[in-house]
Parts: sequence; structure tokens; C-alpha cells
Amino acid sequence: MPLYGMYDSYKFMGLRKHLVDSLRNKGIRDEKVLNAIQKVPRHFFFESSFQKFAYEDKPFAIGAGQTISQPYTVAFQSELLQVKKGDRILEVGTGSGYQACILAEMDTKVFSIERQRSLYDHAVKFLPKMGYTIKLFFGDGYKGLPSYSPFDKILVTAGAPFIPEPLIGQLKVGGILVIPVGSSDVQIMTTITKLSEDTCEKKEHGTFRFVPLLKNRAED
Ligand code: SAH
Repeated sequence: MPLYGMYDSYKFMGLRKHLVDSLRNKGIRDEKVLNAIQKVPRHFFFESSFQKFAYEDKPFAIGAGQTISQPYTVAFQSELLQVKKGDRILEVGTGSGYQACILAEMDTKVFSIERQRSLYDHAVKFLPKMGYTIKLFFGDGYKGLPSYSPFDKILVTAGAPFIPEPLIGQLKVGGILVIPVGSSDVQIMTTITKLSEDTCEKKEHGTFRFVPLLKNRAED
């Protein structure tokens, strides 16, 4: 794995402030989310030579088929989760681990699943250096994490062709699932709020583009 430069600086802090202002202008209102984006150095997730791109509001391919989601998408999904201090949150699709750090920065207990071995291995080594306690799992996000359920919130960070039933089963009553749904290259951002053990409310929040949630098995 490449060496990542883990030095923050006034220049990077300034660029983060700029990014936060632009997210506010694009409609993000949750101050907890904006504060977390201000705090977590996104450039730490980039190889040194690409760090200058870290505060553009764009997704970025950072090697090994890995992508870090666009900041606006991270902010939008995080806002839909209505995060509260102490929430137990399951993330499906660890990827770079940036989104998991944003959630952890909001004083939550984060559990994250990744199905690609190389991404999981990298996150296991790298994320402790960020100073957050995030529980990482190598496995299939379609199944969720039954032995750690129920969760207050569940966030899927890949495009799902359908809403996996086990994820709804692993939500607490009052809990929220945020999931981009659709099998083409465009998905509809969807929230499912669990109103009781057998009723859910579904809402849609516009279109986004995610890499696909891959099916069936974890890959070595
Ligand atoms: N949240 C990430 C972005 C993830 S991109 C970040 O902040 O950087 C989507 C990720 O979902 C990819 O890493 C992909 O390997 C993973 N993924 C795809 N299908 C999956 C599945 N069935 N279970 C778990 N992870 C999956």
C-alpha cells in the first residue's frame, strides 16, 4: 500500500472550511454533519500526490478499485440518517473508511462491512490511525450483521438493486435505513423508517450515482 501523508495544515483546514461552506450552499443543514466534515481530514485518505484533490466536491478513485464517495453524497446520506449521539450505526461498504469516520466523529458506535478483501485489509490497518474506534467486518452487506443487531441506523453506500430484507429486520423500531436503490447506473436515494415491528415508511430523495452493491459472496 502507498504511503499516505497524515499531516494536517492550515492550508488543508482552509480548504475544508471552503468545502463545508459549499456543502451548506448546496443545502446541507445538519450542523453535526458539517462539523464532522470540518474535523475529518479527507486528504488522509488520499495518496500524497493526489491530496490536492481531496477537498473538491467529487468522488475519487484511490487505487485497488477503491472509491471515496463525493463529500456532498456523504453529507446528504449522513443528514438523512438523523444521527444522534450514541447511535449504533451499521454501514454497508467500508471502502476508504471516510464515511465511517464522519459517523464516528458524531459520537456514534460504527460497525462497517466490506466485501472486498483488499479494501477490508487496508481499512483495518489504516482506520485505527485516524483515532476512531470503528468495528470492521469482512463479509456480505446484504446479510447485515445479525449478531450485532439491532441498529439505530443503517447506511448503504453502494447502489442496491433492491432493499435487502435482513437490513430492515436489523433496524430498531424508530430506526432509519438510508439506501440508494436501483440497478442501472443511477439510483434513487431512499429512506426506510421503521415505525413498528411490521410497518415501515418509505421516502425518496432524488437520484445519485453509486458503484453497485455486489451480490452473494464476500470476495478474497
Ligand atoms: N463508504 C465508502 C465508499 C464506498 S464505495 C467511503 O466512504 O469511502 C462502495 C463500497 O461498497 C465498495 O468498497 C465496495 O467494495 C463495497 N461493497 C459492494 N458490495 C458490497 C456488499 N455486498 N457488502 C459489503 N460491501 C460491498
